[in-house]
Amino acid sequence: MSDDLDHFEQEQAFNLPNSTSRLRACLTCKIILSGQQFTREGCPNCRDADMVGNKQAVEELTTRNYSGTAAVMDPSNSWVARNIKADKLVAGVYAIAVQGFVSEAQGDDYELE
Ligand SMILES: [Zn+2]
Repeated sequence: MSDDLDHFEQEQAFNLPNSTSRLRACLTCKIILSGQQFTREGCPNCRDADMVGNKQAVEELTTRNYSGTAAVMDPSNSWVARNIKADKLVAGVYAIAVQGFVSEAQGDDYELE
């Protein structure tokens, strides 16, 4: 198990979190990256989301309240990817479930611990 992880972390092609703290999951596609990565590069899947250089957008479009993680190395051929509807997504680490939603009416009932 740890061998697999070690190998996985050596693969530069994957979109991996660059930190073990302050990780966030995209509310739309559930990929897990650090808040810093979302702010610098945006979500690799949700290019429409205007997160680059926009911390407020990152806070609104991603969450720290996620549970479960799944490494998806081959999104087009993965039961995990199918399970989370990620067959078109980049390889990376995904949350199994996220709490929260992309708020359309910002401000209402928006809680951020
Ligand atoms: Zn996304």
